[in-house]
Amino acid sequence: MTPEQLQEFKEKLLALKERILGDLEHLKGDALRNSFRDSAGDLSGYSLHMADQGTDNFDREFTFDLYSNEQDIIYMIDDALERIEEGNYDQCRECPSKISLNRLEAIPYTMLCIDCANKFERKRHR
Ligand SMILES: [Zn+2]
Repeated sequence: MTPEQLQEFKEKLLALKERILGDLEHLKGDALRNSFRDSAGDLSGYSLHMADQGTDNFDREFTFDLYSNEQDIIYMIDDALERIEEGNYDQCRECPSKISLNRLEAIPYTMLCIDCANKFERKRHR
């Protein structure tokens, strides 16, 4: 990989990180607003609220789920940036193979070559 390519990946990763951090701020704001609304209570809309509760909980779980996924991605982005600095950006974490350029272009923060990623996928679904 050329230094120019590495620089491009680095910029891509930094832009992605910034975007995700922005999303996380939004999510945090939403979660806070939701818990405030719940603890304040709304007697006039009580029955409406009860009917709504199922979807409400679902939304909140979804928000937190998304939140932790994005935290994971931030972690992976930081790891990728460190690997760029160390000069082993395309080194798979699990085996001696290199991660292909195509794969890095699709998922610039991946830590695994395609073979290892497939192995992990299979393990998760077992
Ligand atoms: Zn591998």
